[in-house]
Amino acid sequence: MRDSNFLLENNARHLWHPMAHPAEMRKNPPRIVAAADGVEIVDVHGQRLLDGVGGLWNVNLGYSCDPVKQAIRDQLEDLPYYSAFRGTTTSPLIELSYELAEWFREDGLVRSFFTSGGSDSVETALRLARQYHKLNGQPERTKFIALKKGYHGTHFGGASVNGNSNFRRAYEPLLPGVLHLPAPFTYRNPFNTADGAEIAQAIARQFEEEIAFQGADTIAALIMEPVLGAGGVIVPHETFMPLMRAICDRHGILLIADEVITAFGRTGAWTGSRLWGVKPDLICTAKAITNGYFPFGAVMIAQKVADVFEGNDSSLGSIGHGYTYSGHPVGAAAALATLKETKRLNVAANAAERGEELLAGLVRLQEKHALVGDARGKGLMCALELVSDRSSKTSASKQVVQKVYDTAYEAGVMVRTSGANIILSPPLVITAEHVNRILSALDAGLSAAAGV
Ligand code: PMP
Repeated sequence: MRDSNFLLENNARHLWHPMAHPAEMRKNPPRIVAAADGVEIVDVHGQRLLDGVGGLWNVNLGYSCDPVKQAIRDQLEDLPYYSAFRGTTTSPLIELSYELAEWFREDGLVRSFFTSGGSDSVETALRLARQYHKLNGQPERTKFIALKKGYHGTHFGGASVNGNSNFRRAYEPLLPGVLHLPAPFTYRNPFNTADGAEIAQAIARQFEEEIAFQGADTIAALIMEPVLGAGGVIVPHETFMPLMRAICDRHGILLIADEVITAFGRTGAWTGSRLWGVKPDLICTAKAITNGYFPFGAVMIAQKVADVFEGNDSSLGSIGHGYTYSGHPVGAAAALATLKETKRLNVAANAAERGEELLAGLVRLQEKHALVGDARGKGLMCALELVSDRSSKTSASKQVVQKVYDTAYEAGVMVRTSGANIILSPPLVITAEHVNRILSALDAGLSAAAGV
């Protein structure tokens, strides 16, 4: 590897980072990650860190998952690429669609459409939803409903249903006919209550009003994350998603669950929809489907949707959508090995147990540090929201958040910051000892930041 001076200099000169301001690269250079094993990463200076971020919510099984690495190597040897466009397919892909149908049987999802990542999966689901209604004799159902604070990737469709203005403003105008409901957020919401069940009811009423106003026959789908991730880990009340499902059903609206983060165990259940007892019409997956080792994703499709497509002989029924890497055989082999390991290690159960320990520890940090306005999470997706003043809930400054991050880093734990949130999404194979390491690094970070 080149020396760190060369790397930093050329990073600043030549490389634009996703989700970062190019002008910031010299002032605030990124950490260079050089290696990883187990649940730890090693930076270019040789410092070891427990990865409290799990890559980017995706390395659920850690960095030493040999069966996945071997499956990738073997597939590269046997068949490094072939397409799944009309006319050809590959064995690992067929086997994967079989395994996914098993995996999602309980959710009522019977078909897979493969993609190269989360944004592609969201785009696919939005397009299939519109096409479904056209094939179903309701071509005017084109609008989408989404949640404020929802994150759905960065393609134009995904950015349009995105509920965070900092991912939207620079790219407007976005897709017309997208409407946003409030987030089911107990800490901050327009309803003047912290009661999750009341908030769920209030959003359900707004959803019904919006449907009446727009006309149900103009709405294609509601897209939502079962637990909102990038928007700050917002855990809805248990009644929320079932209420949304019931309203969709009453009005012929499809429900798209964006499970790019929540599928495969992160919330402590195998899918986020299952956590809430809901069967969506489409589920978007990506990230942990290959343990982050290969860019890959899948949209899972319910029988009801499949029937409409498969029962249609017109040219409109052809899926005029797909990527060169829809169903890359190396990604499929990686996914097959990942699913097997994910099941064998029963990571959802560990995510539930370790998640409870982590959240309890975060609540203790909230009691100890005035800086913590809110501590929340489900399974191994958690967040601390930092405030400069608890009663006004004014967000903590950038410097304060950075201090927590830097101190945790020095203490050997990688965390992620998003606005005034500290986000935690460690690999699902962490131990109780790892949880304690995360908590003590954050404790040190919050103590240090109190003086900023
Ligand atoms: N949907 C959700 C819920 C996500 O969290 C993400 C990524 N964080 C995406 C979509 C986009 O996925 P990708 O970055 O793989 O395109």
